[in-house]
Amino acid sequence: VSQAAYIFLGPPGSGKGTLSKLCVETFGWLQLSTGNLCRKHIAEQTDIGKQIDFIIKSGKLIDDQLITDMVDCWLEEVVKTGSTLILDGFPRTVDQAQRFIQMTNRKYPELRVQIIRLLISDDAAIDRVVSRFVCSNKACQAVFSAKSDSGLVAKRDLTCDYCGSPLCRRSDDTEIVMRNRLQVYRKHEQDMLNCLLDAQTPIKEFQAEVPIEDMFNSFINAVMR
Ligand SMILES: [Zn+2]
Repeated sequence: VSQAAYIFLGPPGSGKGTLSKLCVETFGWLQLSTGNLCRKHIAEQTDIGKQIDFIIKSGKLIDDQLITDMVDCWLEEVVKTGSTLILDGFPRTVDQAQRFIQMTNRKYPELRVQIIRLLISDDAAIDRVVSRFVCSNKACQAVFSAKSDSGLVAKRDLTCDYCGSPLCRRSDDTEIVMRNRLQVYRKHEQDMLNCLLDAQTPIKEFQAEVPIEDMFNSFINAVMR
């Protein structure tokens, strides 16, 4: 079987991050985090890192070309390992999706790219996000919930199950901010999906309004079949 790369697509609150974390921990899959990659390139003062540093310092946004270059760099390393890959939070725009498709078609034609779409209503996503806590450790970023039926309640109050760091609330995890984030997300989601589907990228859809364990199991059953 050829190497798979799963693009996790879903709004904030759909459980993408937690699902990625479960896959990484259970199977040792490799997860793309553009945030971590940016920090790594800056710390190592690579060509990309210097450009990112300059852009951030001048208060601009990192453009889609640079982000795709960074992902390309990452793929060069991880494709060699043969490990299953997870793309969470990338591509984020139609432009990134187009660049990603062109790049993988040209450089990694063997890579089996597939969309994993997580379905959740706005109200359910908001309900989740306003009750979530995240690990304060940047390298961990585990997500927990105050809701008892979520399957994500921390074993010890306000302490991360994985690394023991304190849990905190993200300042933008409020209903008002979430309504706005969802509106922005929904606006881009369909265009990005169309772009990926036009390129014949296979898609599997999962109901995300279920406990995370259930979503994990249906995802694993569907992709490992
Ligand atoms: Zn942690």
